[in-house]
Amino acid sequence: MKHLLGIKDLPTSQIENILTTAREFKEVINRPIKKVPSLRDITIANVFFENSTRTRISFELAEKRLSADIVNFSASTSSVKKGETLLDTVNNILAMKVDMIVIRHSSVGAPHFLARHINASVVNAGDGTHEHPTQALLDAYSVWEKLGTIEGKKIALIGDILHSRVALSNIFVFQKLGAEVMVCGPPTLLPKHIEALGVKVTTKLHEALQWCDVANVLRIQLERQQIKYFPSLREYSLYYGINQAMLNQLDKEIVLMHPGPINRGVELSSDAADSPQAIILDQVENGVAVRMAVLYLLAEQR
Ligand code: ASP
Repeated sequence: MKHLLGIKDLPTSQIENILTTAREFKEVINRPIKKVPSLRDITIANVFFENSTRTRISFELAEKRLSADIVNFSASTSSVKKGETLLDTVNNILAMKVDMIVIRHSSVGAPHFLARHINASVVNAGDGTHEHPTQALLDAYSVWEKLGTIEGKKIALIGDILHSRVALSNIFVFQKLGAEVMVCGPPTLLPKHIEALGVKVTTKLHEALQWCDVANVLRIQLERQQIKYFPSLREYSLYYGINQAMLNQLDKEIVLMHPGPINRGVELSSDAADSPQAIILDQVENGVAVRMAVLYLLAEQR
């Protein structure tokens, strides 16, 4: 593994290797001294062409805890605004002897394009509506930690499946690890022919909640919607918003996940988001350990 571009082409053995390595690093980040020297001679550039809070901080902390040298680049304050191409921008960063690039970009395939043209290792931190592999890996890790296994579990992805990069990476990761996946959302936010990926499909929230062991609730990606896919957020939340009373009515206690940022009162009510069933902040904590594992394993190949 030279790059981490997506989950689609990542062999299951590699996924398992990342998760077991992440378990070691989770132990490290809970020690009083949270730092190890593993990446002492590695320089990493975090190149973010799109907004991010969690993912950027999580990568940065993972890198710091591995003792890497880091530089942060954000498109809004860079020469990209002056008309520089993606490849020129990245080549200029690499000329300063950078070993790895963590990139988030609004264009699908931007990390794959870079990986074909540069020598450094590339980690996809989210490319448009396509994939968000480290999010999927930390989601898988969180389910594994909570339920002890992923094999045979039922995972429902609920919300804006059409525009969510978390959805696609989640489908791949959970299927590869032996779980069943269902997607649920309004018909306009479900990609056509998604069942070809081997997932169950429903437009009924209650059916998805009743079926699943884990519900991963996704945000409505308004910033990626050029047209109106549903009448209003209020109406969306009436049909697809999850609250604690709904969870209490189910036959079993399900695990509630969300990749963040949460729109409270839209896809999740506060009582559900803050309930003991929700592992949303565990996902954030696990994100650092999983990203440490990914960077460590990539650096090992160099
Ligand atoms: N943080 C995730 C992403 O970057 C999910 C979201 O933004 O809704 O895709």
